[in-house]
Formats: sequence, C-alpha cells, structure tokens
Amino acid sequence: MTEGPGKEGFETLAIHAGQEADPRTGAVVPPIYAVSTYKQDGVGGLRSGYEYSRTGNPTRAALEECLAALEDGVRGLAFASGMAAEDTLLRTICKPGDHVLIPNDAYGGTYRLFSKVLARWGVEWDAVPLGDVEAVRAAVRPGQTRAIWVETPTNPLLGIADIAVLASVAHSAGALLVVDNTFASPYLQQPLALGADVVVHSTTKYVGGHSDVVGGALVVRDAELGQELAYHQNALGAVAGPFDAWLTLRGVKTLAVRMDRHCDNAERVVEMLLDHPRVSSVLYPGISTHPGHEVAAKQMRRFGGMVSFRVADGEDAAVEICGRTRVFTLGESLGGVESLIEHPGRMTHASAAGSPLECPSDLVRLSVGIESVEDLLADLRQALA
Ligand SMILES: *Cc1c(COP(=O)(O)O)cnc(C)c1O
Repeated sequence: MTEGPGKEGFETLAIHAGQEADPRTGAVVPPIYAVSTYKQDGVGGLRSGYEYSRTGNPTRAALEECLAALEDGVRGLAFASGMAAEDTLLRTICKPGDHVLIPNDAYGGTYRLFSKVLARWGVEWDAVPLGDVEAVRAAVRPGQTRAIWVETPTNPLLGIADIAVLASVAHSAGALLVVDNTFASPYLQQPLALGADVVVHSTTKYVGGHSDVVGGALVVRDAELGQELAYHQNALGAVAGPFDAWLTLRGVKTLAVRMDRHCDNAERVVEMLLDHPRVSSVLYPGISTHPGHEVAAKQMRRFGGMVSFRVADGEDAAVEICGRTRVFTLGESLGGVESLIEHPGRMTHASAAGSPLECPSDLVRLSVGIESVEDLLADLRQALA
C-alpha cells in the first residue's frame, strides 16, 4: 500500500484525479455534461475527442480517470451497474467453449450471470472454494480456462482468497485473474498491485457510498485489454449516465475517511457480538481465528465494514432480529453511510437455495455504517435481547 516516488496519496487522488477545475469556468467540480452529441468543427473536427455520449462523456471520463488512479490501473471504465460491467467484461474476454472458475460463494448476481445467461452462450463455469488453492489448481482447464473470478472478502460469508497466489495460478494456465473488489474498495485492497488483471466494482456500494446511485466499473493494468473493453463498452452500450457518474464522483472523494470509520465501527460491533450469548459465531476477517485472517492482513489495509454472524437459536430467531433493529435499516445492498441489516437466506441469497451458494439459515449480515458507534451497539443489543 506504499505510494511510489512522486505518486500522490490515495486521498489526494480520490479528490483530484480526473477532476481538474473546468477550463472554461474554473468550476472545481466536473459539471454534469447532460448531453448526447457534440458540435464538430468541420467534419471529423472533434473538440477534445467527444462525438457521442455512449462512446464518451466528460463527466463519465472524469470518474473513469479517478477510478483508474485509485486502483493504480491504466484505464477505468464506468457502467450503468456492477452487473453491466461484469457482462461487458465477460463478453469481451470469453467466447463459446471458454471456461471460467468462480467462487463457490460468489455474489448472487454474478452466479446468475454465469448459470442462467452466459451458460446459454456456451461459456462453461465451475464454482470452487477459492480459499483452497489446490482445489482451484485442480479445477483449472489449461487452454480452456479464460479467467479465475475472485471475490475477497466474499458475500455474505466473508471468506478470503489469496489474490497474489491465485494470480500466479491463473497466469501459469494462460488465464486472467479478475477480482471483484466491491467489498474491500480500492482504499482497503488494490488487486492490480497484487497481480490481478482486471478489477470489477459495483460502485453502488462503498465507492458511491451513499445508497443514492447504481453503477459499476472495470479497471485494468494492460492498455490493450483496456482498449478492447472500451470497444465493447461502446458496442454494448451499458454506460454510466452523466448524473450517475457525477454522484459516484461526489461519493468517492470521501472514500478513505468513510472506510476508516466503517472499519472502526465494524471492529466495535464484532467485539460486542463475540461476547454475546445469542451469537454462535461471528464472521469477520479481522478476527485472529478467522481462517483467512493472515491472508487478509497481508493484502488488505484493514478488514472492512461487512460483518456476518450466526444466531444460536436458528433461522426464526435470525429473521426476528433483522426485524427488530431501529438504527440498522432492514434492506439489501451494502456500503452506504447508513447501517443495514439483512437475512441473506431469505433476501439477497434467496435465489441460491439448493445451489452450491446456499448460505446458513441462521446467518445475519450487517453493513456497518458510519453512525455513532454507541447507537449501533445499543441497537444491536436491544435487537438481540
Ligand atoms: C452489488 C454487487 C454486484 C452487482 O452490482 P450492481 O451495481 O448491483 O449491478 C457485484 N458484485 C458484488 C460483490 C456486489 O456486492
């Protein structure tokens, strides 16, 4: 996580990368360029390269440049949602007959994209436990496996995968390593520096951070792959609109301070839950007995704001607790300033029932927000009482 010589710090990049003051007016924030087309000075005479906003838009370009800087990549691309980013990536790198390894506890939407959509287009996939490197190595099909798809930490079980080790497994088989960095955010983890080829984000979550916009992004460290992705971003057209890009840029400026507070609050919540008689286990990579703790400590700055726990009295009690909080809002999604609580088995992961992704029915997932920590602790205590 150390910055190279002459390179600006993360917080500086979050506020300034891609966001020079507007050359015409000096506006310190990039304007929302709500425009579809651009006047040409004679046929083909583009001003600053813009011709049509699916292909390029200055507000989106500011976000793309900022995200590339934050992930230490050469190119960033912003999409209408995380799923749009994933779809564009997979349709760029895969063709019928190719094979992809995905985590056996992948994000539900990612699992659905592979199992219900891409399978019909002849893309094969296997779900493997990414924490088990030998299992991953055994599942790779040299010459056919096009990518290993990594999530770390995973949702909702907070499993950890070793990005550097999996990058070498992927590369020795001629495959790409893709990391969905949504849970960690670029502030806590920089996959490209660990050997990954592509970073995926649902910017809907921590990057945007305010639960007010849906978006996605890809960042790569190879310019040629970046060019191919830009070609498909334009060809497929699932781009971020200018207002969405602007909201995401507004959110990302405070990513570092928000993440530090998310982590502070999550650590306090974990401490309380570990001592609570109604909680049978707490899933958080910051706990020294977590099976992925050492790897997480090596590749993450801190351990994040997501905490899951299992309720000693089972499913009904878990569901009841989710309905009793007052500061934690019962809802799906994560990564916003406000705390959220949910029951993955009946909510975000309901569609995984009966699949390898089914999660324990006594599991509760928290997205710990940045409210006063004493209020969060008191709320959970009364819900658990
Ligand atoms: C939410 C999420 C996605 C999908 O992103 P959308 O913006 O909802 O399309 C992908 N991966 C992870 C880990 C997510 O949490």
